[in-house]
Amino acid sequence: MKSLSGAEIRQSYIDFFKSKGHTFVRSASLVPGGDQTILFTNAGMVQFKDVFLGTDKRPYTRAANSQKCMRVAGKHNDLEDVGRDDTHHTFFEMLGNWSFGDYYKNEAIEWAWELLTEVWEVPSEKLWTTYFLDDKGDIPADNEAKEYWKTQKGMNPDHVLAGGRKDNFWEMAETGPCGPCSEIHIDRGPEYCDKAGVPGHVCQVNGDCKRYLELWNLVFIQYNRLNASTLEPLPAKHVDTGMGLERIVSIMQGVTSNYLTDLLSPLMKTVQTLAGHNEKQMQKNFTPYRVIADHARATTFLIADGVVPGNTGRNYITRMIIRRASRFGGKLGLNKSFLADVADSVIEQYGEAYPELVKNRKTILDNITREESRFHRTIESGMGQLEDYINDLKVKNLTRLDGERAFELYATHGLPLELTRDILQEQGLTVDEEGFKGAMDDHRIASGAGKAMGEMGGEDVSIYSSILDDLTAKAKLSLAGVLFDPYSKMNIEGEILAIVKNGLPVEEAVAGEEVEIVLPETCFYIESGGQVADRGKIVTSGDTDIFSVVDVRKPAAGIIIHIGKVEQGKIKVGDKITAKVDSARRQDIRRNHTATHLLHAELHKVIGKHALQAGSMVSPDRLRFDFNHPEAVTTEQLELIEAGVNQNILENYKLEIKERSLQDAMKEGATALFGEKYGEVVRTVVIGNQEPISFELCGGTHVAETGDIGLFLITSEGSTAAGVRRIEAVTGRAAYALVQQRTKLLKQSAALMQTSQEELPAKIELVLSESDNRKKQASLYKAKLAEYEFQKQLMNVQVKNGASVYGGLIPEVDLDTLRLLSDLFKDKYPSGAVILATVIDGKPSIVVSISDDLIKRGLNAGEIARAAAQVVGGNGGGRPNLAQAGGKDALKIDEAIATAIKIVNEKL
Ligand code: ATP
Ligand code: MG
Repeated sequence: MKSLSGAEIRQSYIDFFKSKGHTFVRSASLVPGGDQTILFTNAGMVQFKDVFLGTDKRPYTRAANSQKCMRVAGKHNDLEDVGRDDTHHTFFEMLGNWSFGDYYKNEAIEWAWELLTEVWEVPSEKLWTTYFLDDKGDIPADNEAKEYWKTQKGMNPDHVLAGGRKDNFWEMAETGPCGPCSEIHIDRGPEYCDKAGVPGHVCQVNGDCKRYLELWNLVFIQYNRLNASTLEPLPAKHVDTGMGLERIVSIMQGVTSNYLTDLLSPLMKTVQTLAGHNEKQMQKNFTPYRVIADHARATTFLIADGVVPGNTGRNYITRMIIRRASRFGGKLGLNKSFLADVADSVIEQYGEAYPELVKNRKTILDNITREESRFHRTIESGMGQLEDYINDLKVKNLTRLDGERAFELYATHGLPLELTRDILQEQGLTVDEEGFKGAMDDHRIASGAGKAMGEMGGEDVSIYSSILDDLTAKAKLSLAGVLFDPYSKMNIEGEILAIVKNGLPVEEAVAGEEVEIVLPETCFYIESGGQVADRGKIVTSGDTDIFSVVDVRKPAAGIIIHIGKVEQGKIKVGDKITAKVDSARRQDIRRNHTATHLLHAELHKVIGKHALQAGSMVSPDRLRFDFNHPEAVTTEQLELIEAGVNQNILENYKLEIKERSLQDAMKEGATALFGEKYGEVVRTVVIGNQEPISFELCGGTHVAETGDIGLFLITSEGSTAAGVRRIEAVTGRAAYALVQQRTKLLKQSAALMQTSQEELPAKIELVLSESDNRKKQASLYKAKLAEYEFQKQLMNVQVKNGASVYGGLIPEVDLDTLRLLSDLFKDKYPSGAVILATVIDGKPSIVVSISDDLIKRGLNAGEIARAAAQVVGGNGGGRPNLAQAGGKDALKIDEAIATAIKIVNEKL
């Protein structure tokens, strides 16, 4: 086999397919752009899903790349294999090549074989392949693939095996594109079998031992599944392949484990240095080593894509894997934060192929260490609690921990379900995972956050695709479909091509009806990149018939619909119309969008480069911007940010907006946003003169010059999730309205305070301090009055066995005064007991004071207060010499005093 490094193998894969006419497409983010159905990108095809579904088109028909994948949630979850085996990771790289209606099985098979056996020189006699043969007998066998495989140079025909639906038929979802697939396996040799000696075991492809390893899966998408029993052939057939980089590297480098390839061994080395182990000790602890190396790598890539540790969804996964790695670190004696060191090796190892790691180095390392310390703070109580639960299970002879308890371990002690499961498994116990999810969802729904994870699914696009087919057949639309240009025009003339009502095409719609309209061209913006869709009107000549547009969407490739309601008259297919964007609203949106870019740039300047965009919303009335930052932005920073943005507005920079290739844009330093999907040609928005202040990839609409924004005011700053902050702001008209409203308030306040606006703060301070003084004065008088009142009451002091005893009600005083009066009593009667009560805001309060000599005679103020409290329905307590009580029932206050006196008298 060729001797190549992991990085060289990655590159040679891409170069090979480039030589076969493929376009290199950058790896998409781990966070799938605009796809709510999966948590993470889990295969190379995810970024092309829309192309297979027919809702999107690309400028190329052949593509290849190396895609960042995560398999820790949903249908593809390999977490439990990580640490136990050498071939499954949470994060891994998937090499892939695609044909979108271009080449098919023949070329896909031939090239895969050529790359493996000729370029990489993998011995052909070790390779095995599979083709589809339906185990249910409904779907035709993939005999084409079988024949192609058998005729490859050097292929042993006996190594071409049939496989059923489980391994050899691929489906995206319940319905939609699907087809047979062919896997390529390698025979690693009998020494890899881990089931030797197990009765009945036979080593085989897709068997249950580790001798045969799956390397590559070639999917041939040729059907559209309409329902459980109906497949319809697709007019355009596609190829989708995926090969795990780490696996092929382990084969070519002749090592027994993915972790011993040059991709992962530097991480293992770092762990070894941290643990201070020799080779033998490392071998003995291979499981924790594997978990730590895998999880450190996954975490590094996740945070670089903006997924910081948190409580829910994706963020929960980052938290969970950091905590899991931390616990396995404990097994190696790494009890302090250590994972950032391993992450640093990841950045060093992968930084060249994935520059986002280098760019976000500080954010990655800081987030990891912070999360580890958070975990360290709670781990002991969590483990203690879990021990108790385990003992409880054992005592009751049970083997399964219930979901509620598992959730409580997470919610109160920060122990993720996956860790609880690990720990239970180590003792032969299990946990009710469904119950955990239920408890988590209940909790989230109660706190208004919705379900934890979505389901995979798709919208029915067939009606829109058939409208497109129909209109192209009639030459009403070109093959490119509806033209889209929200940038150069605000009005267009056209003809109504189709009307859709409740999912069905109709010929006309009358006033009051809500429908969707298809035009040959549109200047309405479609919601994307956080910018909301345009609104406006579609009218017939002379404004006789009016349709108001409230939303605009692209439900299928080539089709754009204007959603809204007929306000007046009647509209029909074939009507000549004018479509007009609500231009005042659009101006507001443009101002907010450009201001968002200025804000993003200013955040980087004032609080740092780690403040990556984590979400944004641009609407006409305000803008909202979420970014990664661990703590609240200070008032001073906010002032600086606001001032900086306004300064750049005043500079009146021209915006330079142009299209260029994604590669050029990235090379020149454009900021790409995580979770966004970019095509090969991107639109770049540059603000600034020679040195750009802001350089972003953006499809939104913007002002011509920054001065058009007018004014920028921050209205709020807060947090949305752990490590994510949100700023809201207004510009232009809304900013003016805000200033106007604030000025009016200021004027009113000044008038009320009978002063000028400038003098207002001084005046308020003065009035406040005057009022303070008055309050102090008043309470002083009240205390004096109470004292006077009290002195009069003291004529009733009783003496019993040498001790002075008094109990009484002092109207309308506070607790402090009561205590003051009890001190007064003490001064006057050095040996005595006093019970003083009052009612404040309808609630009774009692103070009990006992002189020290009487304590020796068995009196206790705390006990007496408790007894009195019981009478008024409350609680009491304190020291033996001074205690107090409070309650609810003011009517029983006299009875409470009497009870207290009675106890005193009994003891004396
Ligand atoms: P396996 O049966 O080994 O789990 P799979 O059938 O889940 O593999 P596919 O979904 O076909 O794999 O993915 C394509 C390729 O990606 C596989 O052939 C394999 O090389 C690689 N791969 C899949 N899962 C992982 C993983 N968790 N870690 C590393 N590589 C993986
Ligand atoms: Mg798998």
